Amino acid sequence: MNEASPPGRRGRGGVRGQGRNGRAPALAGAASRGRCRSRGRREPMSGPMPPAPARGRARATLPSPGEKRAAAAPRRAAAARIRGSEARRSEVEGASHSRPVRFIRPSATPTGREMKEAARDSLPVERRKQEGQIWGSMRRTGFILGSGLLMFVAFWNSVTWHLQRFWGASGYFWQAQWEKLFHAFEGKEWILFYLGATLIPTLCFWGFNALLLVVDTTGKPNFIARYRIQEGKNDPVDPGKLRQAVRLVLFNQLAISFPMVIALYPCLRWRGNPCRLELPTFHWFLLELTIFTLIEEVMFYYSHRLIHHPLLYKHIHKRHHEWTAPIGVVSLYAHPVEHVLSNMLPVILGPLVMNSHLSSITVWFSLALIVTTISHCGYHLPFLPSPEFHDYHHLKFNQCYGVLGVLDHLHGTDAAFKQTKAYERHVLLLNFTPLSESIPDSPKKKE
Ligand SMILES: [Zn+2]
Ligand SMILES: [Zn+2]
Repeated sequence: MNEASPPGRRGRGGVRGQGRNGRAPALAGAASRGRCRSRGRREPMSGPMPPAPARGRARATLPSPGEKRAAAAPRRAAAARIRGSEARRSEVEGASHSRPVRFIRPSATPTGREMKEAARDSLPVERRKQEGQIWGSMRRTGFILGSGLLMFVAFWNSVTWHLQRFWGASGYFWQAQWEKLFHAFEGKEWILFYLGATLIPTLCFWGFNALLLVVDTTGKPNFIARYRIQEGKNDPVDPGKLRQAVRLVLFNQLAISFPMVIALYPCLRWRGNPCRLELPTFHWFLLELTIFTLIEEVMFYYSHRLIHHPLLYKHIHKRHHEWTAPIGVVSLYAHPVEHVLSNMLPVILGPLVMNSHLSSITVWFSLALIVTTISHCGYHLPFLPSPEFHDYHHLKFNQCYGVLGVLDHLHGTDAAFKQTKAYERHVLLLNFTPLSESIPDSPKKKE
């Protein structure tokens, strides 16, 4: 019967074999394997049984070689009949079950479409597994992100609630003080404005710098001097150089800053009234500070890069860079053009845009002067913003142009800085160990 079978049928047997042995493990998966196994067990029961294929009977009566040959012929015939009946049964099964027909359908070798369909059949198991994994990881990520976000919101609400409570409680105090001042200077608010916008910030600047100058000129107290960023520099500071710096700083403040703030008042009056009776709310004040900081960052970064242009640098900005290891007071040591362009305008513009109250302006100007002093002071002190960024600018000239560092990151002007120890130390120091000790220079650099 085998010999009589047309090549197509032999081919079909081969294809089926491949279908079971080749596809089943790889594509059909456990379900099709199970189906194949169960059908395999049923096979001997369905076709006509050969006389003595069972082992039990073979062991009971040992046949002679002649009997064996005689028995072999019907067995071969029976095997052929089994294959034939299997093919027919498969066709019958194919009528009731849609899946098996794809493997055994009498259509020669499987087409590309059949392969695709078979692959699609086998995919759900794998896909379900993958989907399960993806869904599981999504749930985990969602849980972590969600709980993290919840904790952050709870923490932030708690902080702002306490601050607002403090502000609300003390706000009445400040509101009452402001009203007293307001009524004392009623009709002459411009005096209040000049006191608040020039005198208080200037006192903050010189008060803080006076403390730093003690360390710069004497090297004492040691517990501050040991936080020096550029070791061995300004230890002590050159008195002649310091006098020259202080002279220019005073000139800038008296001849440029004060006139600019005087000119600011009519501009603010044109926008509204900076000396209005009601103080801003805490949240509005926070928003103003954020916007002031962003405006300053943008304006300072680009004006600073502009004066680093070779045509302008030697005439204007070189003066500020005479101090490769800066000290606090040097923050305002600049050519008058630079003082207007990079020091004053970026700070003044914010209150003008926001039509700010004098209280916000006073706090902002004082903060701006203290922050620029810190970034030039040359000491990385605990619990104060890191001065490493601008200190590195004074050391290397062509890196770290901004204040926050956001635009330097975007423009890649901090790429070299990011490779340094100074970058590793550019963090808020939250203990009393100087960062030059906890993150020492590499031995090569020390030599
Ligand atoms: Zn500087
Ligand atoms: Zn510069």
